[in-house]
Amino acid sequence: MPNLIVEVLERFPLYQKAELDKEELIFFPSGLHELGFNCFCKRCDIETTHKLVSELRFRISVEKHPETGYLMDLIDNDGFFEFQEYFKAPCQKCRFEYITLSLRVFSDKSINKPEHKIFALKTGQYPPFNNKLNPDVLKVLSKEGRKLYQKAMNLYGNAYGIGCMVYLRRIVEEEVLLVLKNVITKEQSEVLEEIENQHKGIEKKKVYEFANSLIPETMASLGNNPISKLWDISSTAIHSMTDEESMEKCSDMIALLNFVLLQLQAENQSYKEIKRILK
Ligand SMILES: [Zn+2]
Repeated sequence: MPNLIVEVLERFPLYQKAELDKEELIFFPSGLHELGFNCFCKRCDIETTHKLVSELRFRISVEKHPETGYLMDLIDNDGFFEFQEYFKAPCQKCRFEYITLSLRVFSDKSINKPEHKIFALKTGQYPPFNNKLNPDVLKVLSKEGRKLYQKAMNLYGNAYGIGCMVYLRRIVEEEVLLVLKNVITKEQSEVLEEIENQHKGIEKKKVYEFANSLIPETMASLGNNPISKLWDISSTAIHSMTDEESMEKCSDMIALLNFVLLQLQAENQSYKEIKRILK
């Protein structure tokens, strides 16, 4: 069954490509009909199973390509695999709401070349794809930070990579150091603030480099510079990448930002707990 397609439907923002196993194409397009995937339903107000309804399966011939087993109708004159369909996907719980989406699956070379690769991407979705907001991260952020995070995820869902990165960068600037200050000593916090006052604007990079030296040992053992890495990734993406290029960086950035915030928060919790015991 086409499992990677399910992943694309559930987790991928628009236009982000996923490479498929060629075996999945043997099921095209009939295997897509009634393919179930999870998605938020506004009527049910929870995530429910939705199932694709493929109309195309009735409209094309069942003749198969002898070597690959793909349907001949999905191979163009130059030998490229090319599939595009617009689907309705009703919610299986309320049987009322549905989402619409379009999917494109294509080969990068003629399928007669054994090294050809197959990619899938969503070219449209309504209601818009909304990346799941991590509830634990939301708890760590301030009210303002939660708004920024929500906007970043909306932009990510619509493949506006640069825009998403700008909001993520604001979270780094406005939230990460605040959370860090909860787990360092008062003296360290004062030094950090002094360095923040000395370095503004582009020089701010130095603040994050210094912040790395203050992170708890549990995080430091993983790598040298998680906080300034957040600054570096976002700088490169905002200043010198296209939306498409920065989309890939956005996934790294979201993963690292979530990790840093959650680790600092966990340190903060255990620090408070130990302080309570030692009282
Ligand atoms: Zn529903």
